[in-house]
Formats: sequence, structure tokens, C-alpha cells
Amino acid sequence: MEVISHGAREGVTGSCHELLLRNGQSLLVDIGLFQGSEVSGDGADADHQDIEFPIEHVQAVIITHCHIDHVGRLPWLLIAGYRGPIYCTAATAHLLPMVIEDALKVGLTRDARLISAVINLLRTLLVPVPYDTWTAVAEMPLQARFRQAGHILGSAYVEVEEVIDGKAFRAVFSGDLGCKNSPLLPDPTPLERADLLVLESTYGNRNHENRLERQQRLQKVIEHCVSDRGAVLIPAFSIGRTQELLYELEDIIHQCKARGVPGCTWQDMVVIVDSPMAAEFTKQYRVMRDLWDCEAKAKLADNRHPLNFARMHIVESHADHERIVNYLRHTGDPCIVIAASGMCTGGRMVNYLKALLPDPRTDVLFVGYQAQGTPGHAIQRFGPRGGYVDIERERIWIKAEIHTLGGYSAHADQRELLEFMDSPEPVKHVRLVHGDAPAKKALARAIQARFQCEVSGY
Ligand SMILES: [Zn+2]
Repeated sequence: MEVISHGAREGVTGSCHELLLRNGQSLLVDIGLFQGSEVSGDGADADHQDIEFPIEHVQAVIITHCHIDHVGRLPWLLIAGYRGPIYCTAATAHLLPMVIEDALKVGLTRDARLISAVINLLRTLLVPVPYDTWTAVAEMPLQARFRQAGHILGSAYVEVEEVIDGKAFRAVFSGDLGCKNSPLLPDPTPLERADLLVLESTYGNRNHENRLERQQRLQKVIEHCVSDRGAVLIPAFSIGRTQELLYELEDIIHQCKARGVPGCTWQDMVVIVDSPMAAEFTKQYRVMRDLWDCEAKAKLADNRHPLNFARMHIVESHADHERIVNYLRHTGDPCIVIAASGMCTGGRMVNYLKALLPDPRTDVLFVGYQAQGTPGHAIQRFGPRGGYVDIERERIWIKAEIHTLGGYSAHADQRELLEFMDSPEPVKHVRLVHGDAPAKKALARAIQARFQCEVSGY
């Protein structure tokens, strides 16, 4: 077996790893969109996502989870002629067509007939597989198994096994590995063994701040933000992060109500979810509550609705979105706005930023990773010094206060990555992917210090 990475090699986007067998067949694990400075060329996403490697021998595609940086180039793969099976968990199979439809609209075409043709084709290729069950892969001498990754709903890491001369060789692709104790989601399943582990390293050089206290810190930051009125803008991925935030905000509001403190900020706090995708996925998260963790299920049993509470307001139409942006521009009413995209590269968040970054009452709260070259990264870096950011070729001066809340991550940190590697049978070889150079280097050093295994990819 040999693994070639066609994406997420130097950075964190465009995840795509090809597993090549000795018989010349291969399979792809993920086929993600390039974003930010990892899009080669002038940054116009649509032009630089072409599949630039041969696919004639690709027999199967395995999808770890439905984030755009892991699935966004599926339409390009279909255009290039791929017609083989696409394996994923049942939840991912359910969510994927929505993600791809959105990717098509943003990046390729508005032609409704073309979009529905691609989506219909995609549906015929999807093969949902239950967690923890070995399944044969296409006509290949392989079997694969999806294990809980605890990253977003339906997310998995994937084990692929080939029997060579009576011995099973196992390659494991981490996909995006979640943290322990994430809201809503079960913890990642511990690793059993791996001859080759293709491991993400997003936070390979960092340990998250204490996650148990993060809800309190979220509460404090927001209380500080709204003390001078104005909106709190939280750029967030539509899938995963938005639902986590809603879950935690519901809990804060619930506890503040229970304590009944008069004049409490949270009594009248409005939480606006302004993203059609986030709205749709929040609905789907509610439908698939079987996949929630025990704590979340207990809240349901207690008649609480963590993803659909009284002061949560979902903005559907574009007209309503424009009305709200204008309203906030003029009133400065305290409220929380959660909108995509998570790195401010597009979506409705961009309109909020253009309207409200120059207003000192505004606060922007980053709770997720900002890749280099994205507006989110620029705001995070230059905002606190009163700098500017260029969004959609418009220069916006930043008067808003900028905050970054650590400990709020959908990715395992260095400690957790090392813990994951600590399998009963030692890992033989680790290939680091999906991380910036400093993150990979630091993780490689930490791995070498603790385990007797080969490390590559850094
Ligand atoms: Zn992800």
C-alpha cells in the first residue's frame, strides 16, 4: 500500500488521500475543497478545484465527514468521470447531498437542472455503512470500517485493511478527529491498531485551554461584549460548530433563568442563526438525535430543546437577512449572530462584517480555526490593532473589538492526538497531514519523544 496526498498536505484544506494498492487499483479518502491561500491562482475558488491527478484506476471513494474541505470537490470528481461507489456513514450520506448542492451553487453553477442532475447522480453512488462494521470495498481486495471521530454528526475515522501473504495490513485515516467532551457528540472511539496512520495535525502544536470551563468563558466574553451594547458576531461553520454553540448558549440561558437574577443580560438575549445551511443542518441534527451523546439526550428527556429554544431566531430569506443587517447597523441592540462562513470567506457573515466591523460597539468572537489567507485570519491578526481587512475587494476598517475564545475546537489538540495514538498495539508509521508546518513539526517531535514509530509528512 502507498498513500499519496492530493490535498491537505501543506495546509488544512482540500483533504484528499489516495491509497494505492500493488495491483494498481486505488481508492480516495475524502475529496475536499481548497480554501484561502491554498487555492492556487488568484483565489477565485471555482477555477482551481479541478482534479489534477489520474482517476481511471480509482475504484472507490471513502468520505470521513461532510465538511466542505473534505467533500467539496466531489462535483469536480463526477465531472472528471468518476462513477464508482462513495462510502460513508448513514448520517453523512443523509447530509452530503445538501452540502454538495450548496458547494455547486457557490462554486460552479446556478443552473437548477444541472444541480439536480449532479445531486441525483451523487445519490446513486452513495453507500451508507454503519459504524463499527467491516465492509467490502468495491471490487478491491480490501475491507473498511468507520469509527466514531466525535468531530461533527456522522463523522468517522476510517480503517482500511488488506490481507497480504496472510497478514492484515491496516491503514487508518483520521479524517478530522474531534475532542473529548464535545457538546452533543460522543468521544472518538479509541484506536485499536494501525500499520500506517494518516493523522490530522491541525492543533499539533497546541493544547486547548480547559474545555470544562469553556462555557463559563463563553458566557463571560459575551457578557463583556454586550456591556457596551452592539452585536456579537460569531463566524461559524454551518455544520457542527453552529449546533455546538446553540447547545451551549441554551444551557447558559437555561441556568440564568433558573437562578432568576434580575436585570441579567441573558434574560432578553436574542440568538440569531443567519445561514440557510446552518438552519437546515440544525434541523437535521435534531432529527438525528439518536447520535447525540448521553448528556444531550438527558436534556431532551428533561423536556429541554438544546437546538430549538425560545430566544433562538432563524433567518431564512435573503430579504430578512438584509433587514436584520440594516437594523443592527442602526440600533446597536445587543444580540448574538451566528453565521457562516466560519473563516469569513463568504456567506452571510460577510455582510455583517462589512456593515458592523467599523462600529466600535460590535464584537467579533472567533471560536474556530482561521486558515492563513482568509479574511477571518486577517481580522483576528490585524483587528486588535485597529487595522483593516479586504473583503470581496472592499477595504473595511476595523473598529470592532476582536476576541478569540480558545478551547473551542472541533479538532483534537496535541495531548489528545498523542492519546489517540496510544493504541494497545503500537502504531508503526505515522504520516502527518492537515496542518500548518509548525503544527506538524511540533507534533512530529512529540510523537518521536513518546513512541517508537516512523513519522513522515512534516
Ligand atoms: Zn471537519
